[in-house]
Amino acid sequence: MATVEELKLRVRELENELIKCKQKQNAMEDAHNQALNRPKIDKMSAEVVDSNPYSRLMALKRMGIVEDYEKIRTFSVAVVGVGGVGSVTAEMLTRCGIGKLMLFDYDKVELANMNRLFFQPHQAGLSKVEAAEHTLRNINPDVAFETHNYNITTLENFTHFMDRISRGGLEDGMPVDLVLSCVDNFEARMAINTACNELGQIWMESGVSENAVSGHIQLIVPGETACFACAPPLVVAANIDEKTLKREGVCAASLPTTMGVVAGLLVQNVLKYLLRFGTVSYYLGYNAMQDFFPAMTMKANPQCNDRHCRRQQEEYKKKEATQPKVEVVQEEEEVVHEDNEWGIQLVSEVSDSELQAATGARPDLPEGITVAYTIPAQDAAAGDTVEETEQSLEDLMAQMRKL
Ligand SMILES: [Zn+2]
Repeated sequence: MATVEELKLRVRELENELIKCKQKQNAMEDAHNQALNRPKIDKMSAEVVDSNPYSRLMALKRMGIVEDYEKIRTFSVAVVGVGGVGSVTAEMLTRCGIGKLMLFDYDKVELANMNRLFFQPHQAGLSKVEAAEHTLRNINPDVAFETHNYNITTLENFTHFMDRISRGGLEDGMPVDLVLSCVDNFEARMAINTACNELGQIWMESGVSENAVSGHIQLIVPGETACFACAPPLVVAANIDEKTLKREGVCAASLPTTMGVVAGLLVQNVLKYLLRFGTVSYYLGYNAMQDFFPAMTMKANPQCNDRHCRRQQEEYKKKEATQPKVEVVQEEEEVVHEDNEWGIQLVSEVSDSELQAATGARPDLPEGITVAYTIPAQDAAAGDTVEETEQSLEDLMAQMRKL
């Protein structure tokens, strides 16, 4: 039998062994991280070498698309909702070399998210913002990140959210350049809308339908274009209480394809808006069933329920009045409905009778373009829940699918 002294000696030996092992592991991890994490780059270069992560982006300048690509580093963007659309949006902006990204999300990564892009199974259980920051920092250490793991719709968090988007820009105390809404519910969209109307903050809305086969993006300039409260039917079917959709065993459908397309359209619009190239879309829809992309512009509604929207509209009018009048010659593009040699037809998703029966703000739409959803004639604002109606959730979902 070993003596106590012998055992003590053995314990010391094992302890030393353990320390050596740990040191070796740390050294290996450091070397691995150093190989993975490139050092920060002070100035974006157009030099065409394999080690330059910006050569392809800076080539946009040489190709005459973007005048000053490097300006991207001076912008900060807030992404609210880091789910199927938001995470891909954040990744694209990170790879493009945006100056600062601010991420907001209260949720955790789940295995049920694996049908979408970006997150990986080993991240399950981590908060979405934490997991996203880790991945994105590895992709591009030049980007500054700020993350907030909370729900922006609670009173306290909403105040903090407003403070951060109005003062958390690249230069401390300055607002962010854009807020991107990548959330999946009405309540959060309304919170972003309220904050941006009050602050006069330009933002972009994005959404994917519950049946996963249509989506849209929308640029909202407070006072100038329709806000989310001016014309909400474009986004959600208001007759379904979203909380009932989150019932045990019931969930909305989602596809990585539709979410990827919508994230791509959103970030394309962000790049065009920030770097001033091409035509920035005010509203761009995507219908996957027909591969149809309706585009339009909607003016703000003078009767909007949001008082800050009405105030912004007054301010916009005053500002417009001081501007010298520029004569804009609008070329009316004729929509051809007759058969053409390619057999292209414009198809309406909502029937005329459905549109007539709908209430609330209805945008004046050009022919061939229609709203994705309409509010049914009954008072949708009363907050009817599925339980209070005669119809089952399945019936309502089936109705939505028909839309
Ligand atoms: Zn409004």
